[in-house]
Amino acid sequence: MVVRNPAMRWPVAIPNDVRGQRIGRIGRRAKYLLLPLDLGMSGHLSVVPVDAAPAKHDHVDFVLDDGRAVRLTDPRRFGSVHWQPYPVEDHWLLDGLGPEPLSGEFCAPYLAARARGRRLAIKTLLMDSRVVVGVGNIYANEALFLAGIRPRIAAGRLSIPRLGGVVDAVKATLASAIQSGGTTLRDFVATDGRPGYFVHELAVYGRGGEPCLRCETILKEIRLAGRATVYCPRCQH
Ligand SMILES: [Zn+2]
Repeated sequence: MVVRNPAMRWPVAIPNDVRGQRIGRIGRRAKYLLLPLDLGMSGHLSVVPVDAAPAKHDHVDFVLDDGRAVRLTDPRRFGSVHWQPYPVEDHWLLDGLGPEPLSGEFCAPYLAARARGRRLAIKTLLMDSRVVVGVGNIYANEALFLAGIRPRIAAGRLSIPRLGGVVDAVKATLASAIQSGGTTLRDFVATDGRPGYFVHELAVYGRGGEPCLRCETILKEIRLAGRATVYCPRCQH
């Protein structure tokens, strides 16, 4: 392993004895890639010949024994690389995270238990990674439009069937985003080098002041917990 710039979001500190170790089954938890070494979502990985000259933002190489290296490129250095013995879930970045949104664990009774008695807006609750991981601002906006629920309603006031509708809408929104290649982010590049394209299919996010695709009412844009929030005053209650 070659670490050219250890000053990532958290300092890269890898013990010397990783040399010669095999990379096991690659996993993922929330936005962390488990190699079992662990990378943030910022930056991207590519496979290069081990002697390929590193560019300015190529901070870390995982050197393989076949003449190639897995190279981490991260201009913002917002990613990170950690060493964590099994079980990886004990790492402080993963400890306390909620379930994966597409897993069976994220279901209506679970969300109802987490929403009970909470005055927090349903959208803010959905974006809390201790409740469920992977639901960013864009997806929270889109899912609540699909579910017909106003983003700022207190989570604790929603019935279990309505929370079930939220769960289904989150799963449907994420599944459709994955199918169309993810949302366009500055640092996200598909394996073929093209950006993701989900951004072209957004119903509400980024469309404040424009007509609702379902009823043509003008979409409202507000700030909720500091995040851009767009909804249809007619379709969402
Ligand atoms: Zn509408």
